[in-house]
Amino acid sequence: MTYRKGLHDLGNGCFAWLQPDGSWGWSNAGLVADGDATLLVDTLFDLPLTAEMLAAMRDAVPAAASIDTLVNTHANGDHCYGNELVEGAVIVASEACAEEMGDVPPALLAQLVAGADAFGPVVSAFVQRAFGPFQFEGITLTPPTETFTGESVRRVGDKEVRLLEVGPAHTRGDVLVHVPGDSVVYTGDILFVDGHPILWEGPIANWVRACDAILAMDVATVVPGHGPITDLSAVSALRGYLLHIEAEARRCYEAGLPREEAARAIALDDYSSWGDAERIAVNVATLYQEFGDPAQPPNTVELFQLMAQLAHDRP
Ligand SMILES: [Zn+2]
Repeated sequence: MTYRKGLHDLGNGCFAWLQPDGSWGWSNAGLVADGDATLLVDTLFDLPLTAEMLAAMRDAVPAAASIDTLVNTHANGDHCYGNELVEGAVIVASEACAEEMGDVPPALLAQLVAGADAFGPVVSAFVQRAFGPFQFEGITLTPPTETFTGESVRRVGDKEVRLLEVGPAHTRGDVLVHVPGDSVVYTGDILFVDGHPILWEGPIANWVRACDAILAMDVATVVPGHGPITDLSAVSALRGYLLHIEAEARRCYEAGLPREEAARAIALDDYSSWGDAERIAVNVATLYQEFGDPAQPPNTVELFQLMAQLAHDRP
C-alpha cells in the first residue's frame, strides 16, 4: 500500500488514516466500522487536521458521522488533541493514559513554539520543524470518559475489538487496538515505521514485551502510530532496534560515558536510514535512568535542546 496522505481501506470496515512523512506530530489514526457502529482509533495533533480526517471518514462511511467510541492509544498530543471534535463519543483509554493526558497541554506547546527563539537558532529551527506546522491555539483538551487497566474487549457491530494495555513503554499508558476477526492491529506509538521510536517512559523491557504481544497476534495488517501501513516484519525490526540501543547504552554506561556522549557514540548500524535519529538522546536518557544513573535526569526542555543539537550536528 502506498504511503500517501488520507484514508486507506484495509477491507471489512477497517480503515487507516495516514499522515506522511510520519515525523514529529504526523501521526496515523484508524476507523473500525460495522453497520451503524463505529470506533475511532486516535485523533490528530490539531483541530483542522482532525476535522479533515473526520470529514473524509464520513464520506467513506456514513455511520462515521456519529462516532460511538473513540480510543486514545496514549497521551501524546498527536493522538488526542483533536478529541473535542468527536462529539458524543465514549472516549476510552487506559487509566494511566488518562492520568498522563493533562501533563503536556496544547497551550504549553503553543508557548514552546512562540518562545523557541529565546533558546537560540538551533533549538528554534528544531522546534519549528517539529511543532511549527500545527495549530495549538484554541484546543480544549478533552479527556477520556471511560478507563480500564489490562484489557478491555469491546464490540463494534458484530466485530470484537480488543484493547490491550502494554505500557508503560513509549508513554505511561500505551494501548494496542486489535481487531482479531479482520487480522488488523492499530499499534499507536508502540510502532514507528522508518523512524526512530522515542522512549519517553520505559522500561524498555515492557516495550519489547509489547512487540512480542503484537508478534503473537497473527495479524496480516499492522497500522503503526507513525509511518506506512506494514506487517509483522516491522515489529520485529523495531524489537531489534530496542535491544540494540539497550545493549549499546549499557556498554556506554558501564564505560562511564555521560549520557550526552553516549547519545552521540551509539552506532545506529542497521537503523541509520530511519528518520528522527535525534530521538536517541531521549532513549539514552531514559535507559540511563533505568540503569541507575545518579545524575539528575534531564527535563523536557533540556531533552529538546539536546535533540536539536543532535539533529543539527548529524542531519
Ligand atoms: Zn505519535
